[in-house]
Amino acid sequence: MSKPKVAFYWAASCGGCEIAVLDIGERILPLSEAVEIVFWPCAIDVKYDEVRAMRDGEIDLCLFNGAIRNSENEEMAKLLRRKSKILVAYGSCAHEGCIPGLANLKTRREILHRNYIEIPSLDNPDGTMPRTRTVVPEGELELPELYDTVLTLDQVVEVDYYVPGCPPVADQTWAVLEAVLEGNLPEKGSVVGAGTKIVCDDCPLEKKETRISGFVRPHEIVPEPGRCLLEQGIYCAGIGTRTGCGALCPSVGMPCRGCYGPPPGVLDQGAKIVSALGSVIDSQDPEEVERIMAQIPCPVGLFYRFSLPHSILRRKTTDDYKD
Ligand code: SF4
Repeated sequence: MSKPKVAFYWAASCGGCEIAVLDIGERILPLSEAVEIVFWPCAIDVKYDEVRAMRDGEIDLCLFNGAIRNSENEEMAKLLRRKSKILVAYGSCAHEGCIPGLANLKTRREILHRNYIEIPSLDNPDGTMPRTRTVVPEGELELPELYDTVLTLDQVVEVDYYVPGCPPVADQTWAVLEAVLEGNLPEKGSVVGAGTKIVCDDCPLEKKETRISGFVRPHEIVPEPGRCLLEQGIYCAGIGTRTGCGALCPSVGMPCRGCYGPPPGVLDQGAKIVSALGSVIDSQDPEEVERIMAQIPCPVGLFYRFSLPHSILRRKTTDDYKD
């Protein structure tokens, strides 16, 4: 009997999800026995044309990590969707947009101008900018087009399952692989490899329901061990983030950053966090609340750190938004 065919792909992401797959440790050996890995640019040399030559639906499972940042990402998302029976948005970038999605706070023009014109260490006297087509004596060179707006995988193609996390923890990755290989899958469109509550529910730190009168950054205080970080004034996204990681960060004294995305039934993680923060701030005076919230240095970067492209806001709009 032929083995199930599995593909991994890496679009706009940091590479952490690739490492997360390897984090399943020695279980990679039974995995490689049980499946045939037919495409994994990070690890094996299979060309795009070889994927194009596969039958539609030939790949049984594709774990697609990374957001859709450019035309190559989109082309590969559409190709792998066509070739795969099950397409999984694996990791926060594919699921919610994650850190690459914070580029939606700028336009493409602003990003390119900053990177190719403004940076003081640049040496670019002619102001050369990247372009998609360049003619050289040997012919025409083509580069993918950088998109103005970072998209999530499901904003480009239909996604069968979502595995959140930046990156997903190894046991959750293994659970998903096992579920797929055993044909033990939940309803299409489900989030798999994660919990159904919020990180605070798994967090071992003690909550005394103390209200806070100000925020501090993690390096500014030595937190009291064993006590909820948020109640000590350290912004923690556990109040608006889905479980699944086992509350890894707060367990070692670091605040949750929010990488598992919104809890079930919540459309907009940032809005959920803002609403939950409202209930712990020790004031009802609008000016005082404003003073306290002003101590958060970059609200969008914190509340929507992992979810801006998938949020209701999706991107920052400006009068000169279109470039
Ligand atoms: Fe929730 Fe964070 Fe407090 Fe833990 S430290 S209980 S995750 S707010």
